[in-house]
Amino acid sequence: VINKEVNFIVQQDLPIEIINRLESVVIPTLQSFFTDTDKLQNSLTESVTEVQQLKNELKQAHELAKTDELTNIPNRRGFNQIMEQVIAKALHQQTSFALIILDLDFFKTVNDTYGHLIGDSTLRYVERILATETKGRDYIARLGGEEFAVLLPDIDYSSALKVANNIRLKISSKTLQVKNYANPLKLTVSGGVAMYQMNEDMEQIIQRADKALYHAKNHGRNRICGEESL
Ligand code: GH3
Ligand code: MG
Ligand code: MG
Repeated sequence: VINKEVNFIVQQDLPIEIINRLESVVIPTLQSFFTDTDKLQNSLTESVTEVQQLKNELKQAHELAKTDELTNIPNRRGFNQIMEQVIAKALHQQTSFALIILDLDFFKTVNDTYGHLIGDSTLRYVERILATETKGRDYIARLGGEEFAVLLPDIDYSSALKVANNIRLKISSKTLQVKNYANPLKLTVSGGVAMYQMNEDMEQIIQRADKALYHAKNHGRNRICGEESL
């Protein structure tokens, strides 16, 4: 456009001073203006790309902060968020859900006997069992250390107890052979089960499941206790 206009102006019968002025000042100024605009446009495009990259990285960082590195399932932070969503849905649909809190028995002894690396593998092994013993709509999380949570939407109390006991039996029924150790690793788990009651907040159901878990620990371990048996 600019070149066309320049040609058009130059072809007019303009005084030589004007032509000179156009050639020496106006056109170079316009040209450098357009070059600057191009540069600005490019650096703007770069900035937009950079912002998009940072946004993606931030999203990834948020996801990482919610995920347990060892087992690749939600950690306590991720679990809290899931819990909030599940509570909102239960309130909306006027349904309940079950929470199972599981804690491996004498896990310190597992580490002391077989070492921390085997301990880590054991935690991953437990995660695999939880994943296979639950369904797609259920949630599993590692709350920290050797403590796990299982969230079962749309389930009744006795079915939740069954799921918890199936997990417990699956874990206790296997003996794990550890390389260079004559004695196999025997793992057991204790668990507490609680049902969500309308309008209570997250801490309340967690507290009841925890109480049931401690009951199980105090009554011989390798068992599941429900809140109703306290
Ligand atoms: P209890 O039956 O009463 O639950 O006994 P416990 O030994 O399982 O419980 P305690 O709380 O005394 O010990 C938990 C152990 O879990 C201690 C710690 O070394 C181990 N642990 C926690 N996190 C990890 C981890 O990420 N990897 C490994 N290998 N061990 C862990
Ligand atoms: Mg333990
Ligand atoms: Mg513990």
